Amino acid sequence: MSGEDHGRHMSSEEFRANGKALVDWIADYWDRVENLPVLSRVAPGEVRAALPAHPPERGEPFSAMMGDVDRVILPGLTHWQSPNFFAYFPSNISAPSVLGELLCAGLGVQGMLWATSPACTELETHVLDWMVEMMGLPAHFRSDSSGGGVIQDTASSAALCALVAARERAMDGAASRIGTDARLTVYVSTQTHSSVEKAARIAGIGTDRVRKIEVDADHAMIADRLRESIDRDRGAGLIPAFVCATVGTTSSTAIDPLPQIGTLCRERGVWLHVDAALAGSAAVCPEFRTSLAGLDLADSYCFNPHKWLLTNSDCDCMFVKDKAALVRSLSILPEYLRNHATESGAVIDYRDWQVQLGRRFRALKLWFVIRHYGVEGLRAHIREHVAMAREFADRIRESEDFELAAPVTLSLVCFRHRAGDDINRRLLEALNATGRIYLTHTVLDDRHMLRLAIGQTHTRPRHVHAAWDLVRETARRVA
Ligand code: PLP
Repeated sequence: MSGEDHGRHMSSEEFRANGKALVDWIADYWDRVENLPVLSRVAPGEVRAALPAHPPERGEPFSAMMGDVDRVILPGLTHWQSPNFFAYFPSNISAPSVLGELLCAGLGVQGMLWATSPACTELETHVLDWMVEMMGLPAHFRSDSSGGGVIQDTASSAALCALVAARERAMDGAASRIGTDARLTVYVSTQTHSSVEKAARIAGIGTDRVRKIEVDADHAMIADRLRESIDRDRGAGLIPAFVCATVGTTSSTAIDPLPQIGTLCRERGVWLHVDAALAGSAAVCPEFRTSLAGLDLADSYCFNPHKWLLTNSDCDCMFVKDKAALVRSLSILPEYLRNHATESGAVIDYRDWQVQLGRRFRALKLWFVIRHYGVEGLRAHIREHVAMAREFADRIRESEDFELAAPVTLSLVCFRHRAGDDINRRLLEALNATGRIYLTHTVLDDRHMLRLAIGQTHTRPRHVHAAWDLVRETARRVA
């Protein structure tokens, strides 16, 4: 940004002014997002039609870009940060996290190796060790043990990396030389997130080798069915390599029985990965840790602070019990990356723990979040949402027209109108068309149901009360 730039770059003074204006814009957006229609109303192609067909030949002022953000981009947004957003699972952000992202962008370091920015690696290791303590996770997930933690972009990447390590182990180290043995099998439940099946496909294990184990009435994997499936496959000459258990399934936050599944995996020598993408954040509260009992039997574990722990996407915390197994499956050291620190063996090079080579300084935002809120503040965030979900579930239980469609384990309420699938479909459409809330659906036991996922950073009880009033009024209208 020196005078030598001849005005091509934004000067320091312009950056300061534009940056301050942008921070003001974001703060204003947060203040008013509650009153915007939650679900975007644009038609397909409408956003592109409002953009110039060709890129500008000459640079434009920052104010012109922000004008278009207001005019074109904003109407094309579904407002994930609205306190009336109850769809899918939340995608949390918070002011300290956004500032951490900004700092990450401003520093612009690329932390593929310890040597390419020691603080990027060491802060990540440190914050993940804090996580082990904060969440009551097994001590072998700490960096000073056989294992350790890494920040992945998503739970999908964590599952893929875990699966590749499991594949290597199941093939006694041969996978990285000769590729996937066609006899490898993977086990999930019918409720496991599709990212695990996608990971299997990427790892060369086709869908036909992914067993979808039956679930019980609460939609949790039945450990006996898993045992039967593993033993059947082994008897048929196949190689059971990887089980994924879920704590907090996507449809209904069902919790798979880790102690039984973990014991079985240990007996059969199969890698156990535990996916707690949403629900893992709740472990910051000791009273919600029961669902993680048995986690000490897992080989790998992940959860997403970017879902429910006030941290901007992307941020998935992944832990492994045996870091050597992960690194063995992913590490290749070309000449151009060789350096003294790597060769000394005294440092972590996180490029060996992930798919990508390059990596952003993601630990900054998590560090800011933990320091701003303190563990106590993070617990309050989770507890408030769980309390709101329980209260909403009470309203459903008291109602004559509605029923709960799955156990409420944390902050997600699955419910349905008693009058059948058709009315539930119409109800959902009518609710979302109001713009006042946004909910999504799922199908469980062949029945269509609505999901109210509470967890947006600024959702308060009054938003949930208003949602319930709107659900009842709208149901009367569409019934
Ligand atoms: N696992 C579970 C249980 C999920 O609910 C989700 C997304 O909602 C995922 C995995 C995928 O998450 P990501 O977008 O981080 O890959």
